[in-house]
Amino acid sequence: MDGSILLYPSPGRGHLASMVELGKHILDHHHSFSVTVLLLSTPPPDTHLIDAVSATHPSMTFHHLPAISLPNSDHLSSSPANFILSTFEIVRLHNPTLHENLVSLSKSSAVKAFVIDFFCNAAFGVSASLNIPTYYYFTSGASGLASFLYIPALQVKYPESFKDLNVPIQIPGFPPVSPRDMPMAISNRKLEVYSYFLETAVQMAKSTGLIVNTFDSFEASTLKALRDGLCVPDGATPPTYCVGPLVATGGGTKDGDERQECLVWLDSQPSRSVLFLSFGSMGVFSTRQLKEMAVGLERTEVRFLWVVRVPPPHDEARRMLAELEPRVHSFLPEGFVDRTRGRGMIVESWAPQVEVLSHGSVGGFVTHCGWNSVLEAVCHGVPMLAWPLYAEQKLNRVYLVEEMKLALSVTESEEDDGLVSAGELEERVNELMRSEKGRAIRDRVQAKQEAATAALSEGGSSLSALAELIRSIKARSSEVDVPDLV
Ligand code: UDP
Repeated sequence: MDGSILLYPSPGRGHLASMVELGKHILDHHHSFSVTVLLLSTPPPDTHLIDAVSATHPSMTFHHLPAISLPNSDHLSSSPANFILSTFEIVRLHNPTLHENLVSLSKSSAVKAFVIDFFCNAAFGVSASLNIPTYYYFTSGASGLASFLYIPALQVKYPESFKDLNVPIQIPGFPPVSPRDMPMAISNRKLEVYSYFLETAVQMAKSTGLIVNTFDSFEASTLKALRDGLCVPDGATPPTYCVGPLVATGGGTKDGDERQECLVWLDSQPSRSVLFLSFGSMGVFSTRQLKEMAVGLERTEVRFLWVVRVPPPHDEARRMLAELEPRVHSFLPEGFVDRTRGRGMIVESWAPQVEVLSHGSVGGFVTHCGWNSVLEAVCHGVPMLAWPLYAEQKLNRVYLVEEMKLALSVTESEEDDGLVSAGELEERVNELMRSEKGRAIRDRVQAKQEAATAALSEGGSSLSALAELIRSIKARSSEVDVPDLV
């Protein structure tokens, strides 16, 4: 054994799942390292995911950091910005216990690399103090990474907060970006959360390396800008390893288990006829928006499989139904489910997305542009309709639609609080599923699907990048010792 690689994911499902995929990928291709995933106890990790991975990859170790007491943090989850802030803060509060655990883990097996999610930026100081080479695993794409690393430069270039800007923002390798498409968390420099992103961008540029869930030919323009040093202040981007696309293979079913109802339903639908609508692990809509969507879908007469969640607690209709344990059907137009029966299916809250996207009956995907969802669509050759909701998803849309041309986009109403009208959805769905433009998008996505397969084949760019990363870890580990392990 050459020692161990420690992975330190942040708790969000997309981030944890993606980091775990990286761990599996390392174990599948490089047997000389052990892989341990360090898990925060607060919030509790997704045990379902961990159990599933432990079953297929018993050699991956999950190490739970001991629980810590948190200060009263009600205010931290009171808004999206505060929720993000609390994610950064919870990691920082774990630093003393992380230090102890890194020291004790180093006693049993030399820790050769520490791979952290960007939300775990506070841990960088701990690993640096122990002389452990620290890499960031960026769970979004190279385009997201380029814009992230470019935050310090943007601060100098534009004197105002993005929310107050009226000119397109120029990011190397990116088409011009409207200020409205910048992530909410960095749009207002006066918010505390902004400083966390700024500090993270500065530290990332000083790390041992950047591992990105993408592949070289996928985001060529931003990767070139990154590698040319155009996104970091001193022009020296750390080595950037594009090892993806790493996507979950889907749980599948064990012998004897019944396939989920929506997959059985897909079996009976014509090839590529079904539109799948799913908005990540956290996407929710108001009752008004759900109704517009339902009306738009009904008018298209397209077959659909739609993951619907109850609207957020502040939604008026939800408040009125609060006592009645509302189900999603209560928020859809009267009679919608009956009228669309046979050609449409509603799945409440969560669908087996990877299995759905890999099903031959699916011909289009309305997505919130979360990076895992984008990669899953590309890996299964499904054209997309982009409807971003939170985090860096609007930036992802710009790159997907304008640069890569792998998706069409919905247009949100500026006058009406970002609402996407029934008419707008109807038109875009028809365009995606029935027009020449939609077919051209599908052809491009399928070409990227082939490129993704090639990148992950023997001799392909992503497997070569992984080998290069492992070589770099081995080379460094001979130079570095973890000091004073008593
Ligand atoms: N997902 C799923 N079923 C759902 C919604 C989401 O399996 O009903 C999975 C999806 O396949 C993806 C992940 O959850 O792997 C969401 O990650 P993504 O980066 O797309 O978005 P996030 O949830 O981080 O916003």
